[in-house]
Amino acid sequence: MRFSELTTLGVGGEIPDFIAATTTSEIVSAALSARDTGLPVLALGGGSNLLVSDSGFEGRVIAVRTRGIDVDFDAVHASVLAGAGAGAGAGRVRVRVAAGEDWDEFVSWTIHHGYAGLEALSGIPGRVGAAPIQNIGAYGQEVGNVVHGVHILDLGTGELRFLARADLDFSYRDSIFKQGLDAIVLSVEFDLQDVRESHLSRPIEFAQLSSALRVELGEQVSLQSVRDAVLTLRRSKGMVLDALDPDTRSAGSFFVNPIVTSRFAGTLPIDAPRYPLSDDTRDRILEIGADVPPLAEPGLVKLSAAWLIENAGIPRGFSLPGSRASVSSKHTLALTNRGGASAEEVAALARYVRSMVQSHFGVLLQPEPVLVGMEL
Ligand SMILES: Cc1cc2nc3c(=O)[nH]c(=O)nc-3n(C[C@H](O)[C@H](O)[C@H](O)COP(=O)(O)OP(=O)(O)OC[C@H]3O[C@@H](n4cnc5c(N)ncnc54)[C@H](O)[C@@H]3O)c2cc1C
Repeated sequence: MRFSELTTLGVGGEIPDFIAATTTSEIVSAALSARDTGLPVLALGGGSNLLVSDSGFEGRVIAVRTRGIDVDFDAVHASVLAGAGAGAGAGRVRVRVAAGEDWDEFVSWTIHHGYAGLEALSGIPGRVGAAPIQNIGAYGQEVGNVVHGVHILDLGTGELRFLARADLDFSYRDSIFKQGLDAIVLSVEFDLQDVRESHLSRPIEFAQLSSALRVELGEQVSLQSVRDAVLTLRRSKGMVLDALDPDTRSAGSFFVNPIVTSRFAGTLPIDAPRYPLSDDTRDRILEIGADVPPLAEPGLVKLSAAWLIENAGIPRGFSLPGSRASVSSKHTLALTNRGGASAEEVAALARYVRSMVQSHFGVLLQPEPVLVGMEL
């Protein structure tokens, strides 16, 4: 088995020790027996956010293939009564999903059943267990906003644990897992809006989506309309997997949008997009008598990595001479395998893009996919 067969980029070397686990106990025993012999463990979902080196991974790869969706209409209400979830309550539903469920099939299931909160995340590849890892987001929604908590196997201690949302430290494409918690997500609990009567979406919060739907920001439309509009927008950018479209042989966006101070952003050309950031949406729990910290980090702005790349002189479809890796012809932010590329060719293109952006604008782009056995 090779990573090139199991990742959407289609690159990466040998997997000497591979286990496809279809039950939680198989995941746990495969991971603990590897841990006991000092063998590193890598959890694999859909392979859509991974760049693995051509030499592969010297450890055990556990493909998480568990299935199951359980709905609990009383759980959210009960946790509010117990004081554990202020702000939640009636009108919500808690859904516990096995880590191996396909992400987009699950999103489609929520829409079919009339549960709102994930509709703008339609069309993202991968499995449910990976969604909290980088706090997937698109078109104004982030999964972290509706995750109640995750059940994990902690590979550090060997214990099974439940981590509530407050423990997961979600922020833009970041979570406690990206910060170093070595764990396998076994299942994820979501608190979704129960909209079985209206089938209305959450308010639209992304300008491109509201204009595609021809509604104002903040309006609500049917869940299915949001899904249809998102899938259309995503397809136009090569962001829905399609075996016939080589632009989708990627890991999605290869770089995250950089976050810089507004002072630094002021040094960029006037037409560089800037999105002011506010961190005020997170719950903050303070000890009685503690100093109240400022409400938001002053003056942080998010830049557009795609704009920086295009304006550093790298057009869509760009590739290095002789390379089989190229920038997507539909979206500057995706690096694609045009057929038979090696992981090293993808990394060389990423390094080139990064150095061009750095020399033009002084911004060091950070990769979004998880790099295994390689660095930029
Ligand atoms: C065409 C395309 C479009 C995309 N669009 C978006 C987008 O709009 N927004 C977005 O946020 N992302 C996007 N992505 C990135 C990717 O789809 C998501 O990050 C997705 O959640 C990865 O899921 P996966 O199951 O494929 O994870 P994998 O690629 O298999 O793994 C990614 C990381 O998560 C870890 N992991 C996987 N499963 C588990 C588990 N059960 N427990 C612990 N760790 C685990 C892996 O070890 C690895 O470190 C896109 C990717 C592609 C190819």
